[in-house]
Parts: sequence; C-alpha cells; structure tokens
Amino acid sequence: MGIRTGQQYIDALKSRKPEVWLNGKLVESVYDEPYFHQPIQEIAKLFDLQSDPNYQDELTHICKETGERVANSFLFAKSYEDIMKRSRAFEIVARQTFGLMGRTPDFLNTVVTSLAQNSWFLAKYNQDWAKNIENYYRHLRDNDIFLTHAIVNPQNDRSKTSQEQADQFTHLGVVEETTQGIIVRGAKMLATLAAITDEVIIYSFPGFAPGDERYALAFAVPVDVEGLKIICREPLQDGTRSTFDHPLASRYEEMDALLIFEDVLVPWDKVFLYNNVEAANLLYPMTGIAEQPAHQSGVRGYVKLAFAVEVACKVADSIGVDQFLNVQRDLGELVQSVEVIRALLRTAEHEFTITPQGEARLNPEALETIRGMMPEMYPRAIEVMQTIGAGGLLMMPTEADFDNPELRPSIDSHYGGRAGVDAEERIKIFKLAWDLCGEAFGMRALQYERYYTGDPIRKRAIYYTKFKNQHKFELVESILSKENGKAVKQST
Ligand SMILES: Cc1cc2nc3c(=O)[nH]c(=O)nc-3n(C[C@H](O)[C@H](O)[C@H](O)COP(=O)(O)OP(=O)(O)OC[C@H]3O[C@@H](n4cnc5c(N)ncnc54)[C@H](O)[C@@H]3O)c2cc1C
Repeated sequence: MGIRTGQQYIDALKSRKPEVWLNGKLVESVYDEPYFHQPIQEIAKLFDLQSDPNYQDELTHICKETGERVANSFLFAKSYEDIMKRSRAFEIVARQTFGLMGRTPDFLNTVVTSLAQNSWFLAKYNQDWAKNIENYYRHLRDNDIFLTHAIVNPQNDRSKTSQEQADQFTHLGVVEETTQGIIVRGAKMLATLAAITDEVIIYSFPGFAPGDERYALAFAVPVDVEGLKIICREPLQDGTRSTFDHPLASRYEEMDALLIFEDVLVPWDKVFLYNNVEAANLLYPMTGIAEQPAHQSGVRGYVKLAFAVEVACKVADSIGVDQFLNVQRDLGELVQSVEVIRALLRTAEHEFTITPQGEARLNPEALETIRGMMPEMYPRAIEVMQTIGAGGLLMMPTEADFDNPELRPSIDSHYGGRAGVDAEERIKIFKLAWDLCGEAFGMRALQYERYYTGDPIRKRAIYYTKFKNQHKFELVESILSKENGKAVKQST
C-alpha cells in the first residue's frame, strides 16, 4: 500500500477498540472522543501531506523493494544525500505543528528503521529476532503504521531494581513462554499519543543487571491487543477550547499514557529481543537508535525553539519593550541559542561516518550536545517570554469578551500595544505566548524538552565520563611535557 491518507488513518482508528481510560471512564470510541478530536486531525493532516504534490517529493520516495511510495523516515541512510533527505522531511513535518508535537509518526519510523538497518546486531543473538524486526519494518513502511512507544519503567521506587519492586510484575516482564509467544505483565511509561496510534513498540534504556532477564525484552503489539490498558493522564484541553483563546493548546495536545499489560500474548514473530541482559544493554549503543531518532528530535526541537523565540520577540516588540537594553540582551541570547542548535545540526549532518555495515550515522557528539543543551535552552526561552510578557500575559480578555459589542470599544482602547499594534494583534500575540509559557499545555511542552529523551542530568554525566575516558587531553599533556626550567631573563 505505501503511504496512507489522513482518511485511511482515521478509518483504521475507527476500526479499533483499544482499552483507553480517560478521566476515570472507558472511552467508547477514540475517534468520537472530543479530547482526542484535534490531535487526530493534526496527525491526519500529516498523513495527507505525503500525497500533497507540494510536499510529496520531499516527504516520500519510491521504495526499491516494493515500487510503492513510502515515507522518507523509512529511508535507510547510506550517504549524506540520504541524511539530508531525511532532515528535510523531518523539518517539513515539524513545521506543521511548530515542533510542538514530538511524537509524530516520523519519530518511531526512524527508530524501527534504525533497528532494521542494524538487524545484524540482533542476529548475533538470535536469527529470528533479526528476521522479526526486518519484517516489522516492512509492515510499518508498507502500511504506513503510526506507532507509539514506552521505554521507561514507571517510577514506583527508583531506589530499587525491577526485580526488587513490590511485585515482580510492577515493571513489565515476561510471565511465561507458550508455543504461540510470550505472555507479558506489568507497566511501562510514558506512551505519548498511545490512544490514537495503531501499534506500540516496547524496548528499554540500558541498565539491566543479571537477574533482570524477564525485563530485558523488546516487542510490538497493536494498541487494541487483548489485555492492554491505556490510562491517560489528565487532559490539558477538552476539545472545545477556543482557538482564539488557546491557539496551541486547542490544537497540539499530545495525550500521554501509562500502559499496563495484563497477561498480553506477544506472538513470537513480534519478539525482537527477549531474556537477554547483554543484548538489551547493547541495543542502544549498537543499533543507532540513539543517533537516528536524535536527528528527528534535533530538527523538531530546532523548529520548536525557533518558534518560541519568535513568539518572545513578538511579545517584546508588540509592547515596545525591546527598546530596552536588558530585553535586547535576553532576546539576543535566545536568537543565538537557535543558531547554536542549527549549527550543531549542520555539524551532525556534515560530519557523518559510514559504519562497517554501510549505514550513514550522524556525528554523535553534536547530536548529544543538542540533547544536552535543549533542556536548558528551551526552558530559558520560556523564562524570558514570561519575564518580558510579565503581568500582561495574565490580563488578556477572552474570545467572548472580545466578541461582545458592549465591551469591544473598551478592549480596543485599552489592550492595544505600541504605535501600530492594535488590540486584536496584541491580544493574539499574548494569548499565543501564554499557551507556551503559562498554560498546562506549555508546561508539558517544557517538561517534554527536558525529559523526552531521558534524564538530562545522567545523560550529561554519561557524556562527560565517556569524554574523559576517550579524550587524550593532548593540549594539557603538551604543556606539561615542556622542559620545566627556570624563567629566563629577557635581555633588554
Ligand atoms: C512530556 C513527556 C513525554 C514523553 N514521551 C515519552 C514517550 O512517548 N515514550 C517513552 O517511552 N517515554 C516518554 N517520555 C518519558 C521519558 O523517557 C522519561 O520521562 C525520562 O526517561 C525520564 O525518566 P523518568 O521520568 O522516569 O524520571 P526518573 O528517571 O525517575 O528521574 C527522576 C529524578 O530522579 C533522578 N534520578 C532517578 N534515577 C536516578 C539515578 N539512578 N541516578 C541519579 N539520579 C537519578 C533524575 O535525575 C531526576 O531528577 C516522556 C516524558 C515526558 C516528560
């Protein structure tokens, strides 16, 4: 089949009945649930974009294996040209939602593509795992499946390992093997958009120790598989909020969920890794699933940061405060932070290497630096926006006030900005800013930037330790090795 349209995605959604819990109630029909209405439309638009003649050649390519048109996020990167084709596609997708939807389909397409391109690693342990991931990649690519993922154990008690938790199936693990597959039980988080996706893939960050075998696993199942409970977090919008009042929250809310597996059967052909601590610990370093998705996230994050910075600049300009030196300094810092991310992305893309298996991998240092800097740069952009918007961010009238003819003259005379900025323009800018820097929606978007890729503190610590172990400190060694003589007096 190849690429799907938005309608085909929606039809698939309507044909399923996943067990989704929202606000304490079982959702009868995900498609008809108002809370999901807008995100479904946004995802459908992304599927439609692949058939749009203005974007098709930049978002898709003809698959050599099938002759069908498929998404560029499924492209095996083998050269700089392939990297840039993917980069361009990531950016087009990110711009559709201003980088605010992090788990658009291209993200996990990239993960599975990376796993399939490195199936040699899984084959070292089990030929079936390699065959399964290659087939799963084809299934996703050829049916344009929308995936969610859950790779983290719920927090419960972080001072204990999975085997030490209150129950041995507090965290997701294998209960038993059957002739048909494995039975899995326990929870995983944090599956963004789970309710409106087609399937879920499970794998984990490294960190397994002997004894963790039952938790060392990777597999995929449809979201409506029997025994899978999807418990959504509290919604940030109810599907009826005005786009005038909440231009972002009303459109781009990505619902997150906890997944609880209650004796779910995973067929053997959907098992990619199982009962092997070593393979689970090496999955990230060996298969490129750190770097390739970091490319998608880096491009998306770049668009989101650039958007937030534009909003901060517009807020400052609209009330004339960017005449002040301190405001110019802060905004200058934000503009430079966007340039830093852009430069790191270009470095990552240009300084690629080809692995012995022929995969083009981006410069991991540059990608990891983006991952290290964004959890500070994005919150900083939000902080500057809050500081510049100050009290005005809270003082905006609602759409209902704005539309009321009795109030409108007062609004027009008291909500305007600097010369040339009328009340409507200023209200719209400030409402946009509030969605980003004050609303629960904006706070989730901020928390996403901090944590979507793991704990930034431990990631940076790992980065430093790796640097220390691999770096030769040649500059310091060279000065230390110079002759240690007494200072020679300069002749006058
Ligand atoms: C909005 C959002 C969307 C997300 N979407 C997804 C998704 O779609 N799929 C998915 O799988 N995941 C997703 N994530 C989850 C993300 O992978 C985790 O939040 C992230 O890995 C951090 O784990 P945690 O939240 O369990 O924090 P924890 O690991 O519990 O950390 C909590 C705090 O304790 C400290 N800490 C914990 N353990 C240690 C330790 N061993 N040593 C030192 N310090 C420690 C950390 O530094 C941190 O300050 C999302 C997260 C967010 C916020």
